[in-house]
Amino acid sequence: MGEEISNKQVILSNYVKTSVKESDLSLRTSKIQLKIPSGCDGAVLVKNLYLSIDPFILVLMKNQELDLPSFTLDSPIYGFGVSKVLDSSHPNFKTGELVWGFTGWEEYNLIKDPDQLFKVQDKDLPLSYFIGILEVMRCTNLRLKINVFRVIILGMPGMTAYVGFFKFCSPKKGETVYVSAASGAVGQLVGQFAKIAGCYVVGSAGSKEKSAFALMKVDLLKIKFRYFPDGIDIYFDNVGGKMLEAVLNSMRLNGRVALCGMISQYNSLEQPEGVHNLINALVKQVHMEGFFTSDHYHLYPKFLEMVVPLIKEEKITYVEDIAEGIESAPGALFGLYSGRNVGKLLVVVRE
Ligand code: NAP
Repeated sequence: MGEEISNKQVILSNYVKTSVKESDLSLRTSKIQLKIPSGCDGAVLVKNLYLSIDPFILVLMKNQELDLPSFTLDSPIYGFGVSKVLDSSHPNFKTGELVWGFTGWEEYNLIKDPDQLFKVQDKDLPLSYFIGILEVMRCTNLRLKINVFRVIILGMPGMTAYVGFFKFCSPKKGETVYVSAASGAVGQLVGQFAKIAGCYVVGSAGSKEKSAFALMKVDLLKIKFRYFPDGIDIYFDNVGGKMLEAVLNSMRLNGRVALCGMISQYNSLEQPEGVHNLINALVKQVHMEGFFTSDHYHLYPKFLEMVVPLIKEEKITYVEDIAEGIESAPGALFGLYSGRNVGKLLVVVRE
C-alpha cells in the first residue's frame, strides 16, 4: 500500500443544456494512493503538471442526443495534459518520466489504459508546448474517435494552424489572408505562418485587450472589410456562423476558405445557425473545405522541421494564457467560450 494523499478533482456536476456555466463543473477533494493498486497491470499513476483547455470540452459536457461522446456525470472530466510518472506497471513508462496525453482534470490520475500517453522527447522546449504548439494525436484507437465531430474534439493548435494554412489554403506570396479568433491558440499561429508565407494578413479578436494581436471583430464587421479593399484570398475560419457569412461577401475569385472550427456553434449544435449567402462561393468559385488535423498526422515531421527551429530562434511567438491551480480550471474554461483568453489557454497544476 502506498501513501494516501488528497487529490483535488474537477467534476461534471450538470450536463450543459444551452450555454455553459461555471457551476456545471465543481471541485471535489478525494483520496488517492501514490502506488498502482494490485491487479492494475499496464497502468500509469501520474501527477498532473499542466492541463489544456480546449474548445471541444464543451461538446463533451453535453448529454448528447447526437452521436457524440459525453463526460460521465459526477466524475472528473478529462483532456490533454503534461504529467510526471509517479508509479508505473506499464513496460513503456518509468517512474520520474515526463509524459503528455489524455489525463483526468485532477491533481493525480491513475491512467489504466495509457495508449494515448507519450513521452516528452525534447527537453529543451517548455513543457507546456507539448499540449500546445507541438501537440499531435493520431486518431487511431482514440477513445474519443466517434465521428465527424473529431474536429472539435482535438486540440493540437500548432499542427492545426500548419495543416489548415499550408495544405488547405495553398497560400501564395502577396495574397490577402483573414483569420478569425486570431489571438487564440490556433489563430495566433496562422497569422504568423501567413506572414512567413509573404501574405498580407488581418485577424480579428473579440476585445480591445486582444487587439495588440488583431482587430476587434466588431470593428472589422462595422467597417466592412476596408482592410481588404480588393477582397480576401484566404479565410481561415475558427468561428463559423455570422462571421463566415460576412466574410463570404468579401471573398475574391478563386479564394480559399479553410473550415477549421465553428466555436460560435458549439453551444447550439442541435440548432446551428445558417449561412445564407453561399451563392458567393459559387459565383466567385471559392474552394471551401473542412479538415481534421488528426487525419494529417503524416505531416507532423515536416511541421516539426519547420516549427522547432522557428521556436528556438524566437522567430515565432507563441502566447500562452496560464491559469494558476486546478481550482481555477472551471473559470478558465468558461472564459474560453466568452473570449477571455489571449493565446493558448492552460492550467498550471504544479510547476
Ligand atoms: P482559442 O481561439 O484559443 O479560443 C477560442 C476563441 O474563440 C475565443 O478566445 C474567442 O475569441 C472565440 N469565441 C469563443 N466563443 C465564440 C463565439 N460564440 N462566437 C465567436 N467567437 C467565439 O481556441 P483554439 O483552441 O485556438 O481553437 C480555435 C478553433 O479551432 C475552434 O473552433 C476549435 O474547435 C478549432 N480546432 C479545430 C481543429 C481541427 O482539427 N480542425 C483542431 C483544433 C481546434 P475572440 O473573442 O477573440 O473572437
